[in-house]
Amino acid sequence: MTEHLLKILVVGDGNVGKSSFVHRYVNGQFNKMYKMTVGVDFSVKLLHWSDKEKVRLQLWDIAGQERFISMTRIYYKGASGCVVMFDVTSSSSFLSCRHWKQDLDNKAMLHNGDSVPCILLANKCDLAQRVVSADSIDKFSKANGFVAWMETSVKENKNIEEAMRRLVQEILTVQSNLDPRQPGPQDNVSPELDSEYNSRKGCC
Ligand code: GDP
Ligand code: MG
Repeated sequence: MTEHLLKILVVGDGNVGKSSFVHRYVNGQFNKMYKMTVGVDFSVKLLHWSDKEKVRLQLWDIAGQERFISMTRIYYKGASGCVVMFDVTSSSSFLSCRHWKQDLDNKAMLHNGDSVPCILLANKCDLAQRVVSADSIDKFSKANGFVAWMETSVKENKNIEEAMRRLVQEILTVQSNLDPRQPGPQDNVSPELDSEYNSRKGCC
């Protein structure tokens, strides 16, 4: 049995649904009153991927720092994959995705120099007041090197599992092509071991 340990970042502007997404995916719940997270929240989910493989996901949910549209290198260190999320009723949250993706690509890469696999999620697709069209998301996704994009509704539990499965599939494919003699990106992902992380915890 092989166990893959994958660090997945969840980024995007504030209020787009990141914490609700992680909470729904990990605990299977949608909580309207989910409180605004402080610092970085860290959740774990174990997937029985196949007969021979388990996947342990570490989901890193930012909070409080969304307004900076930039994260420290410590946050990005050892990332295997990333979710960039926006809210389909907020064009500014969609526009910010370019910066979130650039920040990721500037600060994290795989050992072979390729960019970290990243999926674009158009959340709150249950809402009628949608302002971002599927056509513009599709163009943006292709132009900015996303693995895929999907419409999600954390509220209605739409495409949450599917989105994560798609991302994990891509990560495992990419990792199986990396040089196995190189240290894997899963090294050094434990926030407990990371003193810089600890010193930042609770600061915001
Ligand atoms: P974050 O700041 O990105 O972590 O966003 P939150 O998870 O705190 O969610 C912000 C608000 O959007 C909360 O009131 C959520 O209940 C709400 N929300 C999250 N996902 C959805 C969704 O898919 N549909 C709708 N209608 N509301 C959502
Ligand atoms: Mg949050």
